[in-house]
Amino acid sequence: MHEMSLMESVLEIVEDEARKAGARSVKTVKLAIGELSHVEPEAMAFCFEAVIRGTLAEGARLEIERVPGQGWCLDCAETVAISERFGTCPKCGGHKVQMTGGDDLRVAELEVE
Ligand SMILES: [Zn+2]
Repeated sequence: MHEMSLMESVLEIVEDEARKAGARSVKTVKLAIGELSHVEPEAMAFCFEAVIRGTLAEGARLEIERVPGQGWCLDCAETVAISERFGTCPKCGGHKVQMTGGDDLRVAELEVE
């Protein structure tokens, strides 16, 4: 399950940030997961519970925000919504769409105390 290794990297970032802030515990972790990122939010939630045990983030709440796919259509010369990596432009139906967003996973917000 690649979500487990992803979650371990997320936890490293979270613990780093929490230590920098001098926090004793992490309250909330908000993750932004792109809809084109091949990351399953349900699997991430499951892995989160598994990796936080015994860490600064133990007992923290996980919030997941889905980031819609976004691309740049060369023919329309504008940003359009795409539902797959090599999707077509919803406006002109063309294939000259470069993915510009919605394909990554990042820690969007962190609440510590
Ligand atoms: Zn277009």
